[in-house]
Amino acid sequence: MTSESTEIMPLNLEGFDAEHPPDPKLIDTCVHCGFCLSTCPSYRVLGKETDSPRGRIYLMDAINEGEIPLSTAVVQHFDSCLGCLACVTTCPSGVQYDKLIEVTRPQIERNYPRTLPERIFRKLLFNLVPYPRRLRALLVPLLVYQKLGLQSFVRSTRLLELFPRLASMESILPSVPASAFQDSIPTFVPAQGEKRYRVGMVLGCVQRLFFADVNAATVRVLSANGCEVVVPKDQGCCAALPHHQGQEEQAKAMARRDDRQL
Ligand code: SF4
Ligand code: SF4
Repeated sequence: MTSESTEIMPLNLEGFDAEHPPDPKLIDTCVHCGFCLSTCPSYRVLGKETDSPRGRIYLMDAINEGEIPLSTAVVQHFDSCLGCLACVTTCPSGVQYDKLIEVTRPQIERNYPRTLPERIFRKLLFNLVPYPRRLRALLVPLLVYQKLGLQSFVRSTRLLELFPRLASMESILPSVPASAFQDSIPTFVPAQGEKRYRVGMVLGCVQRLFFADVNAATVRVLSANGCEVVVPKDQGCCAALPHHQGQEEQAKAMARRDDRQL
């Protein structure tokens, strides 16, 4: 083994490492007014201060200050953040929570040792969801599950309650539409009337399968408003999903198009 291959970044079980911890200047812009709480879905569902934007900012600050470690109890409050950023538009002080959570997540991935089942689950998720072709391979079994009454049967048995995470994912499983099986939007749609703009369109990874009608409606609206729409062929995931979950290497590879798998 070379010295390079044996070089392992040490886990920092105490807190954040020196590579882009949450910026104290951004943290300090929070005046703890609590306006953001009512718009935060994780706070509204879980009802704990630590599952709110304000609470998470407190936690970031406390970790930065070395007052608390990056423990399981703390990490679960960052994991429960949906990244919806409703708090950013609500905040009267202009706190850039988006930047704060964006750097916190890679810190967690680098410095918090997740359990083996958690690692396996996340690996499966990140190797499936941002790849439309892999997701499409699952459509037929999903369709069978939904159309042959298996879904109603499984739900009636409450079997999934033994696997809470699977149960919550199953509960929000959208119906598989016929449009999910192939992309139907042409690569070029002309503007109606006088051309005002030329717009490139990202189809999304999950969006193009389960919400293709939203993409189709977007194209119609753009075209009706004088935009010619270009939909590049072979476009993959925009990398938002791995990026927002702290999967830095995967996100960078997708952004560079090293990872050309669809
Ligand atoms: S993030 Fe904004 S809205 Fe929320 S507590 Fe801080 S200053 Fe108030
Ligand atoms: S981004 Fe996170 S903290 Fe902000 S509103 Fe959404 S769930 Fe709440």
